[in-house]
Amino acid sequence: MSEDKKTLTSAFGAPVGDDQNSFTAGPRGPVLMQDVHLLEKLGHFDRERIPERVVHAKGAGAYGYFEVTADVSKWTKAKFLSEVGKRTDVFARLSTVGGEKGSADAARDPRGFALKFYTEDGNYDLVGNNTPVFFIRDPLKFADFIHTQKRNPATNCPDPDMFWDFLSLTPESIHQVTVLFSDRGTPATFRNMNGYSSHTYKWYNAKDEYFWVQYHFKTDQGVKNLTRQEAEVMKGKDPDHATRDLYQAIENGDYPSWTLEMQILTPEQAKDFKWDIFDITKVWPHKEVPPIKVGKLVLNRNPVNYFAEVEQAAFSPSNFVPGIAASPDKMLQGRLFSYHDTHLHRLGPNYHLIPVNQAKNSPETSYQRDGFMRVDGGGGPGPNYWPNSMNGPGPDPRALEPAIPLEGEAGRHAYSFPNDDFVQPGNLYRDVMTDQDRTNLVGNIVDHLGGAQKRIQLRQAAIFYKADADYGSRVAEGLGLDIGEVKKLAAMGAEERAAATAK
Ligand code: NDP
Repeated sequence: MSEDKKTLTSAFGAPVGDDQNSFTAGPRGPVLMQDVHLLEKLGHFDRERIPERVVHAKGAGAYGYFEVTADVSKWTKAKFLSEVGKRTDVFARLSTVGGEKGSADAARDPRGFALKFYTEDGNYDLVGNNTPVFFIRDPLKFADFIHTQKRNPATNCPDPDMFWDFLSLTPESIHQVTVLFSDRGTPATFRNMNGYSSHTYKWYNAKDEYFWVQYHFKTDQGVKNLTRQEAEVMKGKDPDHATRDLYQAIENGDYPSWTLEMQILTPEQAKDFKWDIFDITKVWPHKEVPPIKVGKLVLNRNPVNYFAEVEQAAFSPSNFVPGIAASPDKMLQGRLFSYHDTHLHRLGPNYHLIPVNQAKNSPETSYQRDGFMRVDGGGGPGPNYWPNSMNGPGPDPRALEPAIPLEGEAGRHAYSFPNDDFVQPGNLYRDVMTDQDRTNLVGNIVDHLGGAQKRIQLRQAAIFYKADADYGSRVAEGLGLDIGEVKKLAAMGAEERAAATAK
């Protein structure tokens, strides 16, 4: 063997003499237990898979940077946003939501838009979608909602009855359903879609003045979508088309970028705002809160190993840095718990030590110790408790966020903000969409909802009708429903409608 060729070793570094023939008693076997190389190889192979993400299982990732292009210091003291021209390393993961790890990129589904900023104050994760709104506004509904987007427990197939039964009994979903069934529900590639925080967050400045904000990452490649027919073909032809597209573009030096625009409200403006700013089913109309350009995101480096860097990447909206904090948005509050909890299950208690997840620009100095796969020095001989008088790291009050006033009584409150769930989707249908957009939207809905039971079709058509009479009528017509019946259901309250269309 030539001197410069590396020797194959076991996981523990011992040279391997033969990697083709098991150690057997005689040429015809059986295999002997003492073939420790075989046992090690099979044992590791048997454990290659880690639990798939329950949501966002299929995704692509890339590294890049975020550059500040406008002075935002009057709204936030986040160091990575502190001056024009400042760049921060980023890792991004773009994904579908409902499908498994091997599912098609062209599926009708929201797309995840997750960013990790490696800042000097620790990692900041912004875990958004390509849609500015979401299906539900209370995290207690999340597990049920996701179950309906997955597989039927008996048939193990996606089930239009489950899908539409839940949505039609959850009228707050109508805004997101309208976006999802527009052609924006099948983006041409990950590069051709926007990313939105969807949630409202809190920014606060060095004087502890705070603001409510929403993030919009607008694609510089332009929004481009697939039609339903194009998406159907793509799913069969190249289920990985968006993953491949992102990788190839970066390999070719054609680096995708997004312009970050912020919507910002003072607490005073928020008080009188027409829309509930903590309700993720609503947008802030651009005319009322004009977006401000503040930065640029560029993806310019592919991962070297998909499993190490993308599959093991772990984002959590609970990863904040001073200058940025949570809002009372109930869905956000649920996600603050659930993402970190998922990674504890999926990757273990020390997932923050996996290189892609490490706070590389602000190394950890916590008192958290030990656990499975603690692969660094584990805090060495230093104290493992606080307070201590051993010169261990201590809290810095400058990392505290300003308090916000709260109101009301603790309890399980039904949603009571006096805004209408049907106005914004109606505006989208009437004022934003072109004739072609509306035709495609109705066609996409009829194609999918047509697979559900008639009573569910009627209930959902009534909800489209409540958003816009033309919208509901065209869906009803496409499904061959009695429009009189749809109108009757649309005039009912949610509970009465549910009772009238129960099995
Ligand atoms: P505007 O006319 O100012 O904004 C409309 C926005 O809708 C566009 O800027 C674009 O967002 C987005 N859009 C365009 N075509 C489609 C489509 N086919 N499907 C989904 N979104 C599309 O009006 P308003 O701000 O008053 O909003 C009107 C409606 O537009 C809202 O009710 C909402 O449904 C939708 N919308 C609003 C957004 C907001 O933050 N205000 C963001 C996205 C959608 P973008 O520029 O982000 O691509």
